[in-house]
Amino acid sequence: MSSRGGRRMRARYGRAGERLQYSQEELWRYFQLILEEGSMTTTYKLALARFLVEHARESTDLVIEYETIAEAFLKYYWYQERIFKIRQSYNITPYVIQIIQEKFETGILSKIRSLDKIPPSIKNEAIREIRKKVFGSGSFGHVVPRFHRIRKQGRNVFYDYDKQKITLRPEALVFLHNHHVPLLKMIFLEWTSFLEKANPMMPKLSAKIAWDMDDGSRAPTGSQKQMLRACEESKRCFYCNKSAEDTSIQIHYDHFIPWSFLYETETWNLVVSCQTCNISKSDTLAPESYMEKLLVRNEKYPKLVKDLGGEWKNEIKKQYNGCEDCGFERWSMAKSAMPQQRLI
Ligand SMILES: [Zn+2]
Repeated sequence: MSSRGGRRMRARYGRAGERLQYSQEELWRYFQLILEEGSMTTTYKLALARFLVEHARESTDLVIEYETIAEAFLKYYWYQERIFKIRQSYNITPYVIQIIQEKFETGILSKIRSLDKIPPSIKNEAIREIRKKVFGSGSFGHVVPRFHRIRKQGRNVFYDYDKQKITLRPEALVFLHNHHVPLLKMIFLEWTSFLEKANPMMPKLSAKIAWDMDDGSRAPTGSQKQMLRACEESKRCFYCNKSAEDTSIQIHYDHFIPWSFLYETETWNLVVSCQTCNISKSDTLAPESYMEKLLVRNEKYPKLVKDLGGEWKNEIKKQYNGCEDCGFERWSMAKSAMPQQRLI
């Protein structure tokens, strides 16, 4: 594969060493070879490919500083690590993940899920660190020179680079812009197949990888709310049992198994909760006794589980256990949220 591609992709030189442009067909072939190259130990190459396509979709700038790419890397890996808890591999923690863990997973910052809510000074510190560790001239396996390498060979088909920046070839920018939809699909497909080995229990892995910050609503629909309110159980907070009819309490619809694991708002998974419990629980997993409580409720109202089929109890248990296996933390309930009466 690579030698065939290598021959076809050989750069041609014109007058006075001037490099002629690559054709769009050549760029297609080369892009495919880059993605199919099997020696990845991290997904940086795919992240860079995604960045280049997204950049070309929106901009005509040929020159891109490494800081800008580092910022995009922070965003991509932030939601994989902090929101969806996607494991990168069983034995390697890429620098970008190490940086995210060191900077954001301790103290008060560990409670913040949205990258936009991180103070800019701390965010910029992380970007500088990623710039240094992933795009620094001394960094091992620097992704920018490695990007074009296909089995130890490579031509700078898409860009040239120096210590500060990459410079896209004009024809590469046009190619990436014109074909951004299929190119992104190819990237996400490769990214998913790379990560699925380390995340066998993770539902909707490909959708999570392709996620954009502005995507999707997790709010229940009107008919879901109506179905839930028809349940006797919805008269009290599912967790602490405070009366939901008390006007001083703000009612929330909580995803019992966190949305960021299921990536879906399923009626069987929704419970009515007071604001205190909902905020405190966030994207953690409630104790198993509550899972039993959910099964009892859903058994009483078969309409809620009609989408799950006959094996719905096993399916819910499987998702609950899968969520824990994927690293979602257990909820440590605040005293105020402790149930005021027996659970079931
Ligand atoms: Zn409550």
